[in-house]
Amino acid sequence: MSGVIAYLGLGSNLGNKMDNLNKGINLLRCTVGIAVKATSPFYHTSPVGYTDQPDFLNAAVEIDTTLNPIGLLDICQCIEKKLKRVDSVRWGPRTIDIDILLYGDCIMRNDRLVLPHPMMHEREFVLKPLNDIAPQAVHPVYNMTVAQLYRGIAG
Ligand code: ADP
Ligand code: MG
Repeated sequence: MSGVIAYLGLGSNLGNKMDNLNKGINLLRCTVGIAVKATSPFYHTSPVGYTDQPDFLNAAVEIDTTLNPIGLLDICQCIEKKLKRVDSVRWGPRTIDIDILLYGDCIMRNDRLVLPHPMMHEREFVLKPLNDIAPQAVHPVYNMTVAQLYRGIAG
């Protein structure tokens, strides 16, 4: 496939978290228009924002995709539904969350989708796994690599 290289951030903090991430990644693999190129290790992380909830397991995935950004978001949300994600509180517990972090060098903002993901550059649970698979990837708004962003926030 020779489409656009995009990076997804996955997180789970309900049920069998490792199983949920693996299932999410397998569903991505099965999707026409998506080729999974790399998967980061899974990291246990403490919740951010709404902190009274279980720890998360987080990962980042590199894909090559012929889907457009909204088509990719539709797939991510469809996989979230399939894995029985039920929305309770914002940033609350979920079987799986799949966010689009980077979509090539695309910069966009509409009601459904903000690219790059608006908080990726400040979240260690996003940048740590992303740095494992794509230290050289460039954030098109800040013109900094993932490695540089990660170094900037890593404790
Ligand atoms: P969060 O990921 O912030 O914990 P949700 O997964 O519930 O919260 O997402 C809330 C909304 O964020 C979704 O309905 C989606 O339309 C929107 N959204 C905006 N930008 C993105 C992005 N880059 N990736 C995924 N969802 C996004
Ligand atoms: Mg999300």
